[in-house]
Amino acid sequence: MRWRRNRIDLLVAGSDCERIFVNLGKRLYDLQQLDLHLEKTTETLSRVEHHLNHNEALEEAKSDLEAIQKDQAALHEKQRDAEHGVDDLQAKLKPVQQKLFAGSVSNPKELGAMQQQANQLKSHIREAEDKVLEMMGQAEALQNAAAAKAAGVDSIEREWAEKRNQLQAEQAELMATLDSDRKMKDEILIQIDPAHLQLYEKLRQQKQGNAVAKIAQGRCQGCKITIPVSELSQARAGELVQCGSCSRVLCVP
Ligand SMILES: [Zn+2]
Repeated sequence: MRWRRNRIDLLVAGSDCERIFVNLGKRLYDLQQLDLHLEKTTETLSRVEHHLNHNEALEEAKSDLEAIQKDQAALHEKQRDAEHGVDDLQAKLKPVQQKLFAGSVSNPKELGAMQQQANQLKSHIREAEDKVLEMMGQAEALQNAAAAKAAGVDSIEREWAEKRNQLQAEQAELMATLDSDRKMKDEILIQIDPAHLQLYEKLRQQKQGNAVAKIAQGRCQGCKITIPVSELSQARAGELVQCGSCSRVLCVP
């Protein structure tokens, strides 16, 4: 709901002695409505902008995917080291087996030791190969997890693209509203006496933004106290009157 500018009350009293009647309470009330609307719009804009800059679901999915990719890289390195380990053991086994098969060693004690060494190396190779196989299984599981997470990120991003367009449109509209409200406020401000403005700002701080109260059925709508008749007529005459009880500026609607 856009705030609509209220026209300044004008009263032309007679053709030969024209004077402009300014309802001070009403003017400050208009300023207050504009200020309240500005505050509300600023808050909404800040919420929209926060939302635009923080898509928690997307950030979380991306961070999960990064964690999986890190695990994949670490596992890949471990697997490569383990494969090199297998290669090293096989390189050690090869000359031992060559010697054994060549039959060049005849000393039974030396032959037995070589056989034992070959067996030990074979056993280490099996263990190392088992580890490599286990890591290959882990790598496959991580690959599947990464693919599923990447699909999740894609889906959130597609939804987000649509939502982001809506939010950007909302942001543009709110910024345009703020811009026009500020211009309107500038126009109102130049019409207000600095002393009245100072009083208004002071009361605004003290009364949580409600410096001006309307009068309804002879009562101040800020504190519900009945306004004395003399003050009521002063306010009706457009003078700046404050409520004797809550100090708010009174406005005759
Ligand atoms: Zn009051």
